Amino acid sequence: MPIEEASQRLADVRARIAHAAKIADRKADAVTLIAISKTHDADAIQPLIDAGQRVFGENRVQEAEGKWPKLRETTPDVALHLVGQLQSNKAEDAVALFDAIHSVDRLSLVAALARAMDKAGRRPACFIQVNIGGEAQKGGCSVADLPSLLAEARTADLPVQGLMCVPPLELEPAPYFALLAKIARDHGLDGLSMGMSGDFETAVTIGATHVRVGTALFGARA
Ligand SMILES: *Cc1c(COP(=O)(O)O)cnc(C)c1O
Repeated sequence: MPIEEASQRLADVRARIAHAAKIADRKADAVTLIAISKTHDADAIQPLIDAGQRVFGENRVQEAEGKWPKLRETTPDVALHLVGQLQSNKAEDAVALFDAIHSVDRLSLVAALARAMDKAGRRPACFIQVNIGGEAQKGGCSVADLPSLLAEARTADLPVQGLMCVPPLELEPAPYFALLAKIARDHGLDGLSMGMSGDFETAVTIGATHVRVGTALFGARA
């Protein structure tokens, strides 16, 4: 993608975030845009960096390890967020590479991350992923399990910043975003990682602090 196109796509998404924020009487800079670069190679990512984007997200540790150390050599101030399921045996690798982890969803992973953070002396921000639609095949802890998982994460000193969800496909997402926002409020959490290319404006009007946008910035994935 030429830099002009990357700049245009980025400006469009930022304008849409700003518009949604304004409708909800929120400040646009209260929303962090995470550019989800999964499946895209360094050549596709660099134009977006050149256009000024500094926060990126990946869903696989190994894929991210293959691309980002080199990209970061030239742009050290890039922040990297993990938005995909994390195996406990990859916790150390994830803690070393990422600045935030959005997929904390079970006790064994809390324990593995706590160990990895103590060992590395590095504490990436954490979001607890909630399976907000109660879907069998989806990652995330159940709404019922969230209180105990959150308590455990806090006891283990994970820097829990908020909650994350991916609502059911093909259903109106607003009620799920609203439910996640309510649960976060009930637990004194400020961070809300919700909203993707198809629904980030809705998410922003409902309080998203982090939107995860891939397709609208990079085009369709292969
Ligand atoms: C791929 C992905 C996104 C981005 O999806 P788009 O529809 O391409 O914007 C957001 N969040 C998660 C967890 C993802 O896996």
